[in-house]
Amino acid sequence: MAHKLMILPGDGIGPEVMAEVRKVLGWLESDGGLNFDTSEDLIGGAAIDAHGTSLSDETLEKCRGVDAILLGAVGGPKWTDVDYNIRPEAGLLKLRKELDLFANLRPAIVFDALVDASSLKPEIVKGLDILIVRELTGGVYFGEPRGIEDLGNGERRGVNTQVYTTSEIKRLGRVAFDLARKRSNKVTSCEKANVMESGMLWREEITALHKEEFSDVTLEHMYADNCAMQLLRDPSQFDVIATDNLFGDILSDEAAMLTGSLGMLPSASLGNPGAPGLYEPVHGSAPDIAGQGKANPLATILSLAMALRYSLDQGTIADQLEQAVQNILNDGTRTPDIMADGCREVSTSAMGDALIDALNKI
Ligand code: NAD
Repeated sequence: MAHKLMILPGDGIGPEVMAEVRKVLGWLESDGGLNFDTSEDLIGGAAIDAHGTSLSDETLEKCRGVDAILLGAVGGPKWTDVDYNIRPEAGLLKLRKELDLFANLRPAIVFDALVDASSLKPEIVKGLDILIVRELTGGVYFGEPRGIEDLGNGERRGVNTQVYTTSEIKRLGRVAFDLARKRSNKVTSCEKANVMESGMLWREEITALHKEEFSDVTLEHMYADNCAMQLLRDPSQFDVIATDNLFGDILSDEAAMLTGSLGMLPSASLGNPGAPGLYEPVHGSAPDIAGQGKANPLATILSLAMALRYSLDQGTIADQLEQAVQNILNDGTRTPDIMADGCREVSTSAMGDALIDALNKI
């Protein structure tokens, strides 16, 4: 049976890093025993240039029918002046919303070979493996009422509303507990129950869900501001962190920086069972290095590993792919963003080739 994939390379370095993903897909077909039915389409600025919109209805419909979507990155200086509603990022937001991708998974893993890339001391981040599960379609970024109103006399008022329902909290919690069972079996749920009613509800619903369905998993509650401090003080106390849209936005960026390298960070956005997952690197389109063969393709390749694990049920092959990444880093193969003394600097495409060699040796 062929796994259905949609590839959306996007803009800037997106097409460059996706070319390396295609090499890996080729290897998985020739040597890994997998079959893919792969389509490719436009998103972001490339789609604006071709269709006048950053995600066409046709592309969206095709995305609905696949098992997993692999995305590069969107945006760039060429499109900064386009209408706000059709800007490159709007296509990505529309894709997430239309597919109801409510759970954003952001792993923060420190590879041994890159332990010095972190701004924290090696002994604090060595072996780090955290997964942040952020609610992505609710909370203060979407709540109503919202807006800026004129109160007269030169005074204005800006309003956003933090709002969560039982079902929104529980479906996010279920994803976090399920994933914890496959990892170190611990969930830290973060909110501000001390000052926000929505945080109190979050804590009560997560506690109830834990009691009803996941009492075998260790659950800990933590205020989000304390979590921000603990991530710097003792990050290895965490396994899975479950949190809302706003706190997750901040905490996932903080955790990402523990690893020290943007070019290494994958992500996944998941919806209800059966819906396609969206897999993309955390970084953007990096216009400053686009077209120069300097982009690190590993974040996008590690996003493919997440797709194999979470949407295609190929956990063993995902493990192999991650092991191959670990091996080339141990060998000292580096793109410029992660270059260090005594290592060998390679281009985007040579990094892809090195990965294929490493896969052949596993
Ligand atoms: P960025 O992530 O594109 O780049 C930040 C810095 O990190 C740059 O110096 C870049 O060269 C470097 N970098 C990023 N990815 C790298 C990689 N794989 N290998 C080596 N170096 C890498 O963020 P930015 O510069 O703030 O944004 C550039 C554009 O990307 C903007 O248009 C922005 O809106 C867009 N963006 C898109 C996404 C997305 O598609 N999900 C996310 C963030 C930013």
